[in-house]
Amino acid sequence: MNENEGDAVMLTQPFKQALPILETIINHGYEAYFVGGCVRDLILERDIHDIDIATSASPYEIQQIFEKVIPVGIEHGTVIVRHHHESYEVTTFRIDGKYSDQRHPDAVEFVRDIHEDLKRRDFTMNALAIDIHGRVIDLFKGSEDINQKMIRTVGNSYDRLKEDPLRIIRALRFSSQLGFNIAKDTLQSMQDLRNSIQTLATERILSEFEKLIKGTYINSAFQYLKNLKIDQSLPIFKEYPALIGLLREDVQPFRSFAEFITLFHQLDGSVSIHTWVKSWKCSNKTKHEAIALNEALIYFRYHGLDTYLLYHLPQDLDQSFLNVLDRLFLDHQVTNDVIKTIRSTIVIESKRDLLINGNDLIKMYPDLKKGKWIQDLLQRMEKAVVLNEVRNTKYELKEWIKCNPPVIN
Ligand code: ATP
Ligand code: MG
Repeated sequence: MNENEGDAVMLTQPFKQALPILETIINHGYEAYFVGGCVRDLILERDIHDIDIATSASPYEIQQIFEKVIPVGIEHGTVIVRHHHESYEVTTFRIDGKYSDQRHPDAVEFVRDIHEDLKRRDFTMNALAIDIHGRVIDLFKGSEDINQKMIRTVGNSYDRLKEDPLRIIRALRFSSQLGFNIAKDTLQSMQDLRNSIQTLATERILSEFEKLIKGTYINSAFQYLKNLKIDQSLPIFKEYPALIGLLREDVQPFRSFAEFITLFHQLDGSVSIHTWVKSWKCSNKTKHEAIALNEALIYFRYHGLDTYLLYHLPQDLDQSFLNVLDRLFLDHQVTNDVIKTIRSTIVIESKRDLLINGNDLIKMYPDLKKGKWIQDLLQRMEKAVVLNEVRNTKYELKEWIKCNPPVIN
């Protein structure tokens, strides 16, 4: 055993399930290890979501060894090996070239030594490997840092953060997810290099930031973020220096980035949802969720919570709606149960469920030229039905229409 191989750890079921892949690679004369986040999470006894494997075999050699290989990122040395209906990322030991565009390393170089591969990784806690016997390879005191709950760069913090400034956001993201502190010199370099975040591709920042705001320990991560003034290098926040200060001190985890930008738009209306979405290069999903949440909040300010609000709000946004309310209106009466109860009284799912449709209206008013009045009337009817002002039957809707006739402009 070499001096860097520490105590063995007990492999849990997800690792045992992946062992045959390691064994197969080793039987072909190469090295293979579990590596990165899954090792950290195993030591922390956290749920494992994906198991990453590092190997001395080249992607081409892995393709020769296994039947089902998906070449997802060959140029970075990564292929996916399918085994018992699970996917495993198998990445060839590599060192990264320069990150001259701050997006991807210009080139990667495959190496045959796990030590070289561990050295290129961002934090000591992420630079651990485990062999098939459960022995931990720990070149940078990663286990000790995990025990001390400490985020520390591998090697010189200034050089490593300069090489890829995304690591600054990643440090915050891990502190938010794990509740770890950031080592003093790493913190200092984060401060010194915070401006270089602006050279990163927004998509890379967003992907880490989304994880950051969902973390259990977001509060302490945001303390770091504010103290280091990292917000001053983030889209929107850098143009509105006072924005971050609008958040309450005890910030709670967000469910999504949509919830996050909706809250900020509600706190300061001068940045529109559209601007948020554009500056942060959000997905369409985030955009639509933020618009729906924001409309619900605007309606709420005027009318409070009712069936019509919930009818328009996709149900999977209920919790986000409640979260934003909690953060905005200190004493509102809305709870999950209230939302559920009101939802259960909504009688239609869409206009299509109305028992009088456009054709019926045309027949009812044969003298009227077809036009916008049909849409308008359907919409008013829809609202009346959703608000339980009229029952959704042909007879009652007809009676209602007599009192609420078409409006022709
Ligand atoms: P998660 O459990 O959230 O996926 P993770 O540690 O697996 O966390 P990933 O972003 O999936 O994080 O990255 C996998 C591994 O690759 C990391 O553990 C780290 O060793 C390495 N890594 C990822 N991004 C970087 C980076 N920007 N610089 C250096 N190493 C990185
Ligand atoms: Mg991962």
